Amino acid sequence: MSNITVCARFRPLSSKERRDHGDSVCIRCIDTETFVLKDEKEEDIMFSFDRVFCEKSDQAEVYEFLVLPIVRDAVNGINGTIITYGQTGAGKTYSIEGPGILECDEQKKGILPRVVDGIFEHIKPDKMAKYSIKLSMVEIYMEKIRDLFDLSKDNIQIKESKIQGILLSGATEAFFVARYARVSTHTHAYIRTHESTDASVVQDFHSLGKDNLMSIIDPAQALQSLSAGIANRAVGETQMNMASSRSHCIYIFTVQQELTGDKRMKTGKLVLVDLAGSEKVEKTGAEGRALEEAKMINKSLSALGNVINALTCGSGRANHIPYRDSKLTRILQDALGGNSRTALLCCCSPSVFNASESLSTLRFGARAKHIKASPRVNCNEDKYAKKHEALCPDKDESCKRIL
Ligand code: ADP
Ligand code: MG
Repeated sequence: MSNITVCARFRPLSSKERRDHGDSVCIRCIDTETFVLKDEKEEDIMFSFDRVFCEKSDQAEVYEFLVLPIVRDAVNGINGTIITYGQTGAGKTYSIEGPGILECDEQKKGILPRVVDGIFEHIKPDKMAKYSIKLSMVEIYMEKIRDLFDLSKDNIQIKESKIQGILLSGATEAFFVARYARVSTHTHAYIRTHESTDASVVQDFHSLGKDNLMSIIDPAQALQSLSAGIANRAVGETQMNMASSRSHCIYIFTVQQELTGDKRMKTGKLVLVDLAGSEKVEKTGAEGRALEEAKMINKSLSALGNVINALTCGSGRANHIPYRDSKLTRILQDALGGNSRTALLCCCSPSVFNASESLSTLRFGARAKHIKASPRVNCNEDKYAKKHEALCPDKDESCKRIL
């Protein structure tokens, strides 16, 4: 059992903050874990998190401390979840996407493109194995789940499978398959012999009725798909007259590893969550539809808060954990319920103007620090039976073929 990892990140002051409220900041970092926030009453409140990233911290630092250990585990069958939390403008999307996910400036690259590179790098063969990577991308807006790879799917349902946990039924999946084999018995060199462009693999998926799959062949193509998904987010924005900060965006990577000649198959799910802004409704001055959106966001974020409270106070298992109170908490059930290495990045503005919102973000993080998790390797001993369920989560009897 370990606690979830909680970090705080303070972005640099924006030029607007400098212009309107001056250069003074409400944050003082003491060391790499401890910092002080001066609240609106000028009182110092001290926090101690797993790590604090001050304005000079760069994207690589955040990735290496918070994300890389989770990526390494995910390719070895352990679930991982990374959540960014904070008010609108605090740096959640910047942390996840960077200035743009196809941005080539190495230094500014966000968590998402680094995760894509990291997963592909870690599945480089050092043993005879078959790997598959699947990737979905959805957003939750007004309690409806939209597929960002296919906007026609605007009401995705959540299902639960004993083996795979929480699933998004019918959501499009970008997939990559590679099989590695030894070149010769005398060397330790391996070659890739089979991949997702191979017609027979695609055929196998399609014959299972899985026409929600799109093939990718390398990290660059995965990033292209993600970039198109992010652009779809913008299309939704204008269609629905909303802003991206009003929806939660969720990226789900599933990495499956099957060693040749071994009966076991390991499956790790890595979920990245860019939450909607956590600011209070009153502060936004919202009315009409904007007010309805804000209420929905507050509802799902307070559902998240309630789940965290239930998980952290007292009687543990005996407690009822209200995962079903929102789509967000239901999707995060695996992550918060124990079988996942979870990391929370609390993003804050350092401006004195935003001190009260930053304080509420940091208090949320401080509460989340008490959540205990005991992630385990998701390993299927009974390869064929489990594989059957893995491919047919809805237990569709017509689905008999095994890949
Ligand atoms: P959020 O997603 O929390 O609403 P954004 O990530 O969009 O906020 O950030 C708001 C603005 O601040 C953007 O213009 C972004 O480029 C900038 N920004 C955020 N974090 C950083 C950072 N660490 N370094 C430089 N600029 C940042
Ligand atoms: Mg954002």
